[in-house]
Amino acid sequence: MVYVLKVKLVVLDLDGTLWDHMDASSLLEPLEAIDHNTVVDSKGEVLRLYPNARWFLEKLWELGLPVAIASWNYPDITVKILELLDVKKYFSYLGIEPHPHKYKVLLKIMDWYKHKYGYIQSSEILYVDDRRMHLKEIHKYIGQVVFIQMWKDLPGFRELYEYMLTLL
Ligand SMILES: [Mg+2]
Repeated sequence: MVYVLKVKLVVLDLDGTLWDHMDASSLLEPLEAIDHNTVVDSKGEVLRLYPNARWFLEKLWELGLPVAIASWNYPDITVKILELLDVKKYFSYLGIEPHPHKYKVLLKIMDWYKHKYGYIQSSEILYVDDRRMHLKEIHKYIGQVVFIQMWKDLPGFRELYEYMLTLL
């Protein structure tokens, strides 16, 4: 018998998942927003939100579903990018830390969730990342989460939203 729990929390990676740059921490300040979805650094390097990423965050916001970030990055520059793109407001928890152990960030997110909303099981978390590399540790130290490998399991944020609705 399989018990299917409803998803209560979405955890999103940033590099290669929410935006097209693979290492936001390598951008050099000053940064500038050249349009609603695009940030350029002092070297002319471009970081762009993926199509429908903002729309997806707005939809989750409308649903009242909390969204947390789990990102392997330096927090200062990454938060600046989120602010320039005007998407920081959609996230309830900014789990941005400069190490590859996302399970440690997930544990903090679950602790934050517990204090704010109550207990959450790993299987009530939808974790979206463009890479599978963090899953082994997550399974070992946290347990099964609902995992979507962005761009491989699903082709975009509209499809991710449709899939997510089936989990609510
Ligand atoms: Mg990534």
